[in-house]
Amino acid sequence: MIVYRCSKCGKIIYAYYYGKDFLGVPTPSEVRAMLGGICPYCKKPLKKPTLEDVKIYPREEVLKNKKLVMELQRISKQQIQVLDQSSKP
Ligand SMILES: [Zn+2]
Repeated sequence: MIVYRCSKCGKIIYAYYYGKDFLGVPTPSEVRAMLGGICPYCKKPLKKPTLEDVKIYPREEVLKNKKLVMELQRISKQQIQVLDQSSKP
C-alpha cells in the first residue's frame, strides 16, 4: 500500500495498492500532475514531492489503523469519481 499525502494539510491525496489498476505505481510527480498540481483539500500548490513524502504501509498495519482505513475508503471513492469524469468525452 502506497499513500501520498499533502505536505501542507497531511490529508491523503492518493492511495495505491497492488492490483488496483493497470497503470502501475504512479510516481509522486505523476500524482501531482493528476491532481492539477494543487491539493484537493487545502487548495495549496503541491510542492514537488520527494520520496520522503511517500509512505509505504504493510497491509496488516493499514487494517489495524481504523482511522487510516476510513481515510482510504473515502479517497478511493473520490478516485473512482475522478476516473469516471475523465473517461467522459
Ligand atoms: Zn492539503
